[in-house]
Amino acid sequence: MPDTLITSTRDANPDTERFDAIIVGAGISGMYQLYRLRELGLRVRVFETGGDVGGTWYWNRYPGARFDSESWSYGFSFSEELLQDWNWTEHFSPQPDTLRYLNHVADRFDLRRDMQFNSRVAAAHWQEDTREWIVTLDGGEQYRGRFLFTALGPLSAYTMPNIPGTETYGGEAHHTARWPHHPVDFNGRHVGVIGTGASAIQTLPEIVDKVASLTVFQRTPNWAAPLHNSKITAAEHEAIRARYPEIFARCRETVSCFIHTPDPRRTFDVSEEEREAFWEKLYAEPGFGIWMANFRDMLTDQDANDAISAFVARKIRQRVKDPAVAEKLIPKNHGFGTRRVPLESGYYEVFNRDHVTLVDINETPIERITPKGVKTTDREYEFDLLIYATGFDGVTGAYDRIDIRGPNGLRLADAWAEGPRTFLGLQPEGFPNLFMLMGPHTARGNIPRSIEQSVEWLTALVRFLSDNGYTRIEPRAEPVAEWTRHVIDAARILLSYNVDSWMTGVNKNVEGRTVRRVVGYNGSAVRYRKRADAVAAGGYREFLVS
Ligand code: NAP
Repeated sequence: MPDTLITSTRDANPDTERFDAIIVGAGISGMYQLYRLRELGLRVRVFETGGDVGGTWYWNRYPGARFDSESWSYGFSFSEELLQDWNWTEHFSPQPDTLRYLNHVADRFDLRRDMQFNSRVAAAHWQEDTREWIVTLDGGEQYRGRFLFTALGPLSAYTMPNIPGTETYGGEAHHTARWPHHPVDFNGRHVGVIGTGASAIQTLPEIVDKVASLTVFQRTPNWAAPLHNSKITAAEHEAIRARYPEIFARCRETVSCFIHTPDPRRTFDVSEEEREAFWEKLYAEPGFGIWMANFRDMLTDQDANDAISAFVARKIRQRVKDPAVAEKLIPKNHGFGTRRVPLESGYYEVFNRDHVTLVDINETPIERITPKGVKTTDREYEFDLLIYATGFDGVTGAYDRIDIRGPNGLRLADAWAEGPRTFLGLQPEGFPNLFMLMGPHTARGNIPRSIEQSVEWLTALVRFLSDNGYTRIEPRAEPVAEWTRHVIDAARILLSYNVDSWMTGVNKNVEGRTVRRVVGYNGSAVRYRKRADAVAAGGYREFLVS
């Protein structure tokens, strides 16, 4: 098979190294795609901006970073040996352990020999005559690849706040998604944090005991719920190991590939007492149950959503001593679960501490970052350390940062100006031989589960192309239109459709990203898999191949 692929390309520039496939990104997707393409005998090169494997878990080293998925439902399931030889230490794995795990995977399968680190892909241009992608790195080096796999991660394009003066700040400053590899000293320091999303919600409880003061600048509060993490004992792990087939089978049956699945009842099918008891139970249980195993109408029916929002608001009021602070921490512009729910470990109690201040920047907006700290309309706050927990240009942001051009120089960013157009979120319309992993319009949820499905599906597709001597593939217009319509219809029925967040493609720090778009597939992962499998079983008729 490598022969078919490599020798059929015309040697326009003999100095340009040529691969059967180029993968951009050495996170969970890129690692597994490499493993599978190698099995086909392909010559593959992975380019990665970071200095090693891990993607999200390589970059997001901030204190408190950890899964919100149960660890034992998150790891790779493709290798029995890997499942047997890895022990998770906590039910929701902390970032250092997860990164150790991914390094273990890279070592075990000798993945690094086909990876090139500290190599950011700046451009990828399609060459119609030779049917290949020319990939250009930041430094100008070029490589050719028959197939291009974008394993960029839905949350990798981090964004600094568009507040003037960030470059003038004289103290230590870090974005949570670019946290340094050396330990950061918090002891006795005055610390400011901008942002109150999942990253800040994990960071604050972890550092509050160490700092001299903590000032949190909040623009929009989020609905957070308790994680209830705990250590995994040896006996527990043995039981988990025995249950792996059952756990992964369960994940294949649920709409988001988590172990949690919506309760078949509607919110008002049950009495108030029953409802409260059910919510109390979910609030006391580990993981995403309160978001994903709740009444089935919670995310689609406004009254149902108002009811669960009122329940969680009561919890916040119980946990935060100062009623005025509690009110500030309760979201007013969106309901529970209509943004990605951060799971927390003592977040609300942080605000009961005397040395912690919550600044509502709607009341006193930030004017600028100064050499000493943050200046609001009210006063200047001085800090030794400033943390930007200001998030990501989600899903499409990482694509926008690469100059991707298809036939006739068509830029992907222009093709997606009104929103992405893809088939199954696996190939964009009009970009031959470009395959996306965890790109827009694909099922995500418990991400490694979706990654395994996409990688295996795409690997089978590449095998099909090779077996039949095809060197070019793109989706037909009709299936793209049908899939794009379906993705938008599946989003429209959700209350989250009308809420700004990275999940609806909004990032106020990025020009042009203030209009909501449908960037994710919100339908059932089970349905998604069935559709994808039917395409494969039908001989990939939805694609033009030659
Ligand atoms: P985020 O949820 O987008 O939060 C960013 C925060 O920064 C928001 O509070 C935002 O306010 C604020 N912000 C942004 N620009 C600002 C500005 N110019 N001025 C003031 N405030 C500003 O980002 P994140 O916390 O990094 O989380 C992103 C996603 O990553 C999560 O939803 C989750 O999917 C994933 N994540 C997962 C985990 C986990 O698995 N445990 C942990 C962390 C993150 P507005 O809301 O007003 O824009």
